[in-house]
Amino acid sequence: MKAQAGTIYLVGAGPGDPKLITVHGREVLESADAVVHDRLISPELLKLARVDARIEDAGKAPGRASRSQEDINDLLIALARAGHSVCRLKGGDPFVFGRGGEEVLAARAAGIPVVVVPGISSALAGPAAADVPVTHRGVESSFTVVTGHDAQAAAGVDWARIAGTPGSIVVLMGVGNLGTIAGKLIEGGRPPDEPVRVVERATLPGQRALSGTLATIEQLAQEAELQAPAVIVVGPVAGVLNEAETT
Ligand code: SAH
Repeated sequence: MKAQAGTIYLVGAGPGDPKLITVHGREVLESADAVVHDRLISPELLKLARVDARIEDAGKAPGRASRSQEDINDLLIALARAGHSVCRLKGGDPFVFGRGGEEVLAARAAGIPVVVVPGISSALAGPAAADVPVTHRGVESSFTVVTGHDAQAAAGVDWARIAGTPGSIVVLMGVGNLGTIAGKLIEGGRPPDEPVRVVERATLPGQRALSGTLATIEQLAQEAELQAPAVIVVGPVAGVLNEAETT
């Protein structure tokens, strides 16, 4: 399906591997007049855009460190108003910690049609790519996805409640706060020997994964110098297909 003039498409690019975009997402990307992409989008994917498409890095502002969300909204609306079909390419799924909802609201307020094309979130692809079934018969029947971004702040995520909720825990944006998060989950009642797996650069070249427990994972991740982007999975599911220790 060809992208329509004057329309904004919020397209989930998937977790990293360019093959993990959806067919619909790829069709929009290949036909759009303009592509406004997130910072972490694979260069391979951007090669699929039309040679004459206008390509904008949403993370980069002319002459400034980065564009604000408001600037990005304005850019999307201006491009659509100029009659372009706009592919707003976002990592993973547009609505999982992607500020996609804000872009939909801004476009609607401006009277611009928006189409959302879901993507495979790293919250699911990260664990899957490193052999962690987020649910497993007889082990866990639910999972919670949470941001670890503000784990050191007093306000924000209620970690005691997350710890007390049955099920696997998937943490995005948390690798810089791994020790704090593990500590809060133990304080909240999760056993110190609960399995944890951290997946760095999931589905991308150089993907690495590390297995430990709530008590050991911070040290292991430090030794391995694990960095963002990474997904953390906490719970017995992390050990179902993986032995603890590095892989
Ligand atoms: N909308 C995105 C998430 C944006 S928040 C999605 O649905 O996937 C950014 C966080 O996503 C990163 O800090 C990291 O925790 C996670 N992430 C994104 N891509 C990743 C990848 N290839 N490997 C591991 N984690 C990733």
